[in-house]
Amino acid sequence: MSLSENTLKQIKKAAFLMKPDRHARGGDAEFEMLFITPQRIIEVNIPVKMDDGKLKIFKGFRVQHNNTMGPYKGGIRYHQDVDMEEVKALAFWMTIKCSVMGLDLGGAKGGIVVNPKELSKGEVEKLTRAYVRLIANDIGPTFDIPAPDVNTNPEIMSLIYDEYSKIAGKDSPGVVTGKPVDNHGSKGRDIATAQGGVFVLHELVQEQKMVTAETRVVIQGFGNAGGVVAKLLAAEGYKIVGASDSQGGIICNYGIDSESLLQCKVEKKTVKECGLHVTELHGLSGASCKKVSNEELLEQECDILVLAALENQITVKNAPKIKAKFILELANGPTSPDADDILKERGVVVIPDILANAGGVTVSYFEMLQNAAGVSWSLEEVFEKLKEKMITAFKEVQQMAEKYKCTLREAAYIRAISRIEAGLKAKSLL
Ligand code: GLU
Repeated sequence: MSLSENTLKQIKKAAFLMKPDRHARGGDAEFEMLFITPQRIIEVNIPVKMDDGKLKIFKGFRVQHNNTMGPYKGGIRYHQDVDMEEVKALAFWMTIKCSVMGLDLGGAKGGIVVNPKELSKGEVEKLTRAYVRLIANDIGPTFDIPAPDVNTNPEIMSLIYDEYSKIAGKDSPGVVTGKPVDNHGSKGRDIATAQGGVFVLHELVQEQKMVTAETRVVIQGFGNAGGVVAKLLAAEGYKIVGASDSQGGIICNYGIDSESLLQCKVEKKTVKECGLHVTELHGLSGASCKKVSNEELLEQECDILVLAALENQITVKNAPKIKAKFILELANGPTSPDADDILKERGVVVIPDILANAGGVTVSYFEMLQNAAGVSWSLEEVFEKLKEKMITAFKEVQQMAEKYKCTLREAAYIRAISRIEAGLKAKSLL
């Protein structure tokens, strides 16, 4: 099933549950018509003179899905497999995510078809600046504000800020979020996605009266979000028993020292080469620490599975074999709708992406507020506000789930759709 089909199915599921309410407010078809189709799609061909003197053209996208609730907002990813289809789905999820969180923002997403690991630093800079020149008229601090996503980082955000400011003829830090802290960025933005997810997960674990030291966690994706989540969960006392990246992973039943694994990944570049290293650190025999493929990792015995890699990881194929009781979706779209049905039937509770990973865009929103006011909040202030936003949204989603007797994902959609419907009505579009 394609990602667009996934998004349509998710909306239809939620709309169906809301039916009695929705009927009184107007038909489904009009809402779907207004909401599923992105408001604007931009495709550009980005010319870059490479280090060897040859010209290369890269494909770039920006999809502005919906701005009913506020300016378009969403990251830009650099990945060799990006396509328009994926960017459309990701832009749609941004609109939903911002609405679940009650932020005055719409949804957008950008992407460039490139493996940045194959480019020099200078080439990445040229590519980024050229992309900004092509989309400069379509973005802006009150219109569309990009941010980091897969394979993009604060340094790349600085380049966007700089190039856009030159074109706009004025210093415009508000054009992008996720900037370095010493260049108008917000404190805590770098770890906000992981921190937001941990706030919600920990709340759920406490509600369930689970003991953190006995709670076994497996993390798929040990990058930006997954690596930080391991550190944060370890600090709360959770037992990390498995981790992986795109090359494969390791399972260590006695527990992984997340700090050592993070260090080792920097040295050896991949998690799977760190098995022995971690074992040695614990002074235990290598037997209980084994290398696994990404597929095997997902099916490991554990209490919590954190999905922090890419889309479509849990499908109808592996959903029946998932052993975790709870899933935290830090990636966007890691579970297909059909897999969701299987997990629901099997009683696996999923904290959905549109809530679980919303900490990133929430602190982006805080960054916009700080830039607009010309102030800088302390880390404590940022995380206090983030925690409040995450827990409030989580509780409201839980209430919806109880009211409609549905999953947390369906409930999150219902909450998001209700807000956007009200927004569309206020604009006399429904
Ligand atoms: N790329 C992140 C996401 O998928 C953050 C977007 C933002 O901060 O605007 O939520």
